[in-house]
Amino acid sequence: MYRKIDSEILQKISEIFPSERIVSERERFEDYSHDEVSGINCYPEVVVFPETSEEISKLMKLANKYLFPVTPRGAGTGLSGGALPVYGGCVISFERMNKIIELDEENLMIELEPGVITGELQKYVEAHDLFYPPDPASLDNCSIGGNLAECAGGPRAVKYGTTKDYVVGLEFVSPTGEICSLGGKLVKDVTGYNLIGLLIGSEGTLGLITRIILRLLPKPGFVSDLLVPFKTFKDAISVVSEIIRHKIIPSTIEFLDRESILAYREYIGKPVQFEDASAQLIIQLDGVNKESTEEYYEKIWNICEKHGAYDIAVADTQQDRARLWEGRRCLLDSLKALSPIVDVEDVVVPRSRISEFVEEVYKIASEFNVRIANFGHAGDGNVHVNILKAAKSTEEWDENLPLIKKKIFKAAIAIGGEISGEHGIGYVKKDYILLSTSEAEIKLMMRIKQAFDPNKILNPGKIFE
Ligand SMILES: Cc1cc2nc3c(=O)[nH]c(=O)nc-3n(C[C@H](O)[C@H](O)[C@H](O)COP(=O)(O)OP(=O)(O)OC[C@H]3O[C@@H](n4cnc5c(N)ncnc54)[C@H](O)[C@@H]3O)c2cc1C
Repeated sequence: MYRKIDSEILQKISEIFPSERIVSERERFEDYSHDEVSGINCYPEVVVFPETSEEISKLMKLANKYLFPVTPRGAGTGLSGGALPVYGGCVISFERMNKIIELDEENLMIELEPGVITGELQKYVEAHDLFYPPDPASLDNCSIGGNLAECAGGPRAVKYGTTKDYVVGLEFVSPTGEICSLGGKLVKDVTGYNLIGLLIGSEGTLGLITRIILRLLPKPGFVSDLLVPFKTFKDAISVVSEIIRHKIIPSTIEFLDRESILAYREYIGKPVQFEDASAQLIIQLDGVNKESTEEYYEKIWNICEKHGAYDIAVADTQQDRARLWEGRRCLLDSLKALSPIVDVEDVVVPRSRISEFVEEVYKIASEFNVRIANFGHAGDGNVHVNILKAAKSTEEWDENLPLIKKKIFKAAIAIGGEISGEHGIGYVKKDYILLSTSEAEIKLMMRIKQAFDPNKILNPGKIFE
């Protein structure tokens, strides 16, 4: 279907990139053959490291001429197989396009290249008393380009929204090699179709993002985290809607179920705070100063206590807050220590129905006799359902996993949910997209793809075939 990268194509690629920015030896492909999805490797035939949009444009024109596939790759932390070169071909790694171009304090905006690590961006703007809210738990490792491609969210989505709410401009190279510049340092812009909106969340299938302009906010003057243990999962989740109903919008409301608490306890090998709880909530409050934030403590505690909370820990220094978040941030590593193969799902349901959904997940776990840990963003209804292979045989796992996933997705859809809140469909969820998206919608998406990429060379094998 696609042409292999042969010596003729390699020669043409070496006319675009210097030799130190081309990897063509198979033994060096390992790092570019996987993302954070367990157990799947797809090997590229060549990897290139562009430094400019013009280089990418030339590569895309070459790919259209010779018909080889091209897969964009940020930092490879994806959880849907989006950066896997499933048909081989060329991987474009953005790791060398990692410069912050300009911090514009007059417009409260920042212009940067896609390879900048999200956590570095946050530290940089915070040093200038500014704030970039989207905070995927992988922020120390993922890239801002990957965040745009997946429309990454994070705990703070409940108050501040997701990546799409902060992008005001971007440059991208189209699959056919045109360099396009959208938006700018503009607060509003309705000139033509909203192509920025289309590119964000397109999972690297419609264009290669090469430059980004983000809007920033003033940094909150005070931030405080509360850790609250509950005797039942249902109690913990009922607090979430109750807090919102009282018109309090914390910057995050995260939850951990019993399996997640146990996994973290085992991972760090020493007692953890409130380890006997059936569920914990981490509630973060932020505001202009300590007084404006503290006024909500009591209201929140009253709601929590009414719903079965039996204690509370408050962290408002940098050190205490880091300690409080430690468990939440390393949950995936904790689960992987228990079972090297973990299937990570990220369904999203109306936040008022999380408890009902997780009850269904527990029933599915017991039906298939499989260990499932649930944690996630209770404030925005995004539940990370983690299915552990543990000691199951490969045959049983391969046979049952698709059935388990299908049941989980159907349970979410039945109560108004969707199969992905932030990780995307990518390679690993494309067989399930028709559960929640109609054929008419898929056909429309395919026609959009066709308009952008008539030769189907950019990131093929993702979202839908
Ligand atoms: C421990 C852990 C915690 C996580 N927590 C969260 C979370 O809280 N919220 C969340 O949303 N996600 C989370 N993720 C998932 C992941 O970190 C995000 O999807 C992130 O946005 C991926 O960024 P990346 O740079 O690693 O992209 P990659 O994995 O390299 O690529 C992801 C997709 O983006 C495309 N892409 C990358 N760069 C570009 C570009 N410049 N132009 C066009 N397409 C591009 C790729 O082709 C691919 O389809 C987590 C992952 C891990 C391992």
